[in-house]
This record gives sequence, C-alpha cells and structure tokens, in this order.
Amino acid sequence: MMGKKENTNVGYAYTVTWVTDQLGVGHAPMSHPQLKAIHEQGVDAILNLCGEFCDLHDIEKDAGFEVHYLPLEDEEAPGLIELEKTLEWLDEAIYLGKKVLIHCRHGIGRTGTVLNAYLLRRGLGHKLAGKALKKLKSKPANFVQWRTIRKYGKQSGQLTVREPSLEFKRLVDLSPFFNDYQELVLRVEENVHAADGLACGQDHDQCCHTPVSLTLAEAVHISHRINLELTGEERLVVIERAVETAQAERKAAKAVDGEVTDTDESGEYCLSEAGAVCPLLKDGRCLLFEHRPLQCRAFGLDQSADGDLWGEMLTPALNKISSEMWLAYTGSMASVGMPTFALPDVVSGKFMETVFKYMMEQGLE
Ligand code: SF4
Repeated sequence: MMGKKENTNVGYAYTVTWVTDQLGVGHAPMSHPQLKAIHEQGVDAILNLCGEFCDLHDIEKDAGFEVHYLPLEDEEAPGLIELEKTLEWLDEAIYLGKKVLIHCRHGIGRTGTVLNAYLLRRGLGHKLAGKALKKLKSKPANFVQWRTIRKYGKQSGQLTVREPSLEFKRLVDLSPFFNDYQELVLRVEENVHAADGLACGQDHDQCCHTPVSLTLAEAVHISHRINLELTGEERLVVIERAVETAQAERKAAKAVDGEVTDTDESGEYCLSEAGAVCPLLKDGRCLLFEHRPLQCRAFGLDQSADGDLWGEMLTPALNKISSEMWLAYTGSMASVGMPTFALPDVVSGKFMETVFKYMMEQGLE
C-alpha cells in the first residue's frame, strides 16, 4: 500500500488538523515520512477508518501508534453498535491523555461522520457540533452519513447536567512536576554510572526481579506514561500481571517478616523466587525503559564512586516533588511520612486506595 503512487496525498509533509488539543483529523498517511510527521505532531493513537487499505492499520501499529481500526468503505457510515464501540475507545484514549488522529482516505466523509458523532457524544448537540465542523473539511458528506448522525444524535441525546465539553479537563496541571522529575532523571543519567556500564531493563533484567518502591511523584509519573505509551491491550495484560506480582510480593514480604524463606543473603526478598517479575518486563526488556523509575536506573551503581546517592540527592528531591504535587492536588501540605507505593500496585491502579486512605488520615475526605 505504501508503494502506490496514485494518491494525491502521497508525499513527505503531513499536517494534522487539530479540532481540540487532543483530537485531530486528516487523510490517510501514504508514506513512512508522513507517519513520522504525524508522530512528530504529538499523535499517540490513530482511529483508522480506511476499509480500502487492508494493511495500513498494521503499518501504523508497527510505526508505534495505538490503532483502533474500523474499516468502512468509501461513502459508507458505521452501524450504531460499532460506532458506539469506536467512540468508547476514543473517549478512553482522550481521557488517558493521548492525542488521537481520526483519518479515512481523504479525511472528509467517514472521518467527519465519526467526528460529528463524537461531538454529539461529548454533549455539544447538533447546533454546536455543526459550528465546530463548519471550519473543517471533515464532515458527513452524503445522505447515509447524515442519516447515521441523526440516528446517533437521537440515541445519545444532549447532556444537560454539565457544560458541553470536548475533553476531560484535568484538575491539576502535572507538567511542572514532571519537568522537575525529568531534571532529576537527567542528573542521575549524567552523574552516575553502573560499574559494569549495563542498564537494567535493557541489557539485563536483574532489577526486574526485586521489589520497586515509588514515591507519589514517581507513581503518578509512571501511571501517566503507562496510559500514554501502552496500547489498551498491552495495558490490560500488564494490569493482570501486576495483580499477580503484587500478590507474590506481599507473600514474599510476609515471609521476610515471619519464617524467612524467599530471601537472599542480605535478608531482602527476590520476586523470581516467589514466582514473579516486574509486570512491565516483556521478553527481557522493560516496556517503559525510557521512563523507568530511578530505582531501576540506579540498580548496580558503583556506590563507592557515587556516594550516598539516595540519601543526599534522590530521596530529598523525590519527597520535595511529591509534597508539591500533593499540595497542588489537595490544597494542603502533606504531613511527614507520605506513603510509598509498590510498583505493581501503581501499574494496576491499586495505589490510589493508599492515596485515598492517606487523604482520610489527613482529614481531607
Ligand atoms: S520498571 Fe522496567 S526496568 Fe524497572 S523493574 Fe520494571 S521492567 Fe525492570
């Protein structure tokens, strides 16, 4: 498909037309440079509506996008059931903070139909949705597509309980905290080096067999990257593995507290002996290597050369970012002793229970 030259959209440039900060529309990418250009414009996920290209969705997946494929022939409109399923996927992707591109071959009728339905689903109503579509070339283009929109509109109705909104607004802007965290990561990467020069999660997986504990700052960061980087399917798989690992971790921790069994000579326990590894490990590599926690980056460090890395630098810095994040979330200062979280609980989302419990202890229900 990528080799065909008859399409006028073939070329190197590709400009996503953004409808909102997270939702864009466009034509089918017809070359690898165009896929790269889409990626460079921040798109994480693609809703592909091209029934005429049977391999494009696989090529998009191979290029690193999360893809939802709803094959429609030119001039067609989706049935209401598959439309609803597709809009659920779109809603979730946007809720998770992903930037999504909807495309058909030319980015007109099929794209416009699904976009219009999405606007109705977000509560805009026909009038506001029509206004939003007016400036775009993506809009329903024939009777079948308009009829689908009418039917979908009747079914979904207009939301009346809140202001119409295209996106889920996040309550807290996390970017300043993530920037501080990223600076810390850079300092670690620049200043400390493993004695053997090998990185855990890429060159070996030794750290992936030991329990990883995270501060609030790292837990929120990892959770955010899981939502952004992994596809829906991958997320389900790692969440399932995380639940199993968390059980094994708790069992192994109990063993350390009671009759010591699954421990190494230092008295710490090893996950593999408890039948588990980090849920983010796949085929010997970390699924989130670029975003792995500091504990994984610092694994196997030459401590004598790097001094008291945790005590002097990492723990105080992580605690500071966590406290500032807490203040932004709750409007009050955290008391000493903020909780830390086991990585599997962060992956599965269970760590939020601990956050809420801590909130209650702070009198913040
Ligand atoms: S986050 Fe990645 S590097 Fe760290 S333990 Fe898990 S799989 Fe290994």
